[in-house]
Amino acid sequence: QRKPIVAGNWKMNGSVELVEEISSKVLSQIEEKASLIVFPPAMLLSSAIEKGFVTGTQTVSENNSGAFTGETSAELAKQLGAEFSLVGHSERRSLFGESNEVVAKKFSKAQENALTPILCVGETESQRESGETEQVVAEQIKAVIEHSGIASLSNSVIAYEPVWAIGTGKTASPEQAQAVHKFIRDMIAEYDGHIANELRILYGGSVNDSNSDLLFAQPDIDGGLIGGASLKADAFLSIYKSAL
Ligand code: 13P
Repeated sequence: QRKPIVAGNWKMNGSVELVEEISSKVLSQIEEKASLIVFPPAMLLSSAIEKGFVTGTQTVSENNSGAFTGETSAELAKQLGAEFSLVGHSERRSLFGESNEVVAKKFSKAQENALTPILCVGETESQRESGETEQVVAEQIKAVIEHSGIASLSNSVIAYEPVWAIGTGKTASPEQAQAVHKFIRDMIAEYDGHIANELRILYGGSVNDSNSDLLFAQPDIDGGLIGGASLKADAFLSIYKSAL
């Protein structure tokens, strides 16, 4: 049985006050049955860790250290107490030019530093309309397998986030999401059935407290990666409860 994860990606939002508010409303409700993780902006990581959240960074550099102004170091994130890192979020891919190859390097840099990578994959609206969803998602995952090997996936999480569903209010239907999650699991099972069976695959893209129950009830959906709704304590808590 895979333990579900509800993860909040705050993107470049939030504040010290919001860390306090969400921690006081949500942390006392955490149960053993499902994990809750927050991905605040890097500047809020320490505050979130101090308050008791399990945390991760929103990205990591593929480099160890050096002259890389503005980058997020996996090693330092680990030192602060982060446990996870998103890699390849669609905003990183589209706004910061991260290719599948760069994302694969970030994935392995996270693992080298004992951060569990959450590999984000997903197609754009036009790719879906032209029937390329499976191919796009498969290529995004295969870049990691080619770089780090199939065994690397046993210590990772995948988040399927169709780009057209992110921040648009247009959630994938539970059936649409389930179909891609099953495709991902089947594809990985071709390499290794055990890894495929253990792998948590989260859905992200306009998840809210009224659609999370049905999404999380799908057999291959193991929780969610929540953007906007993770900034509202009540909504985030109620989405977490859908995963219990
Ligand atoms: P929204 O939940 O705001 O659509 O964002 C999803 C997302 O990008 C999480 O990483």
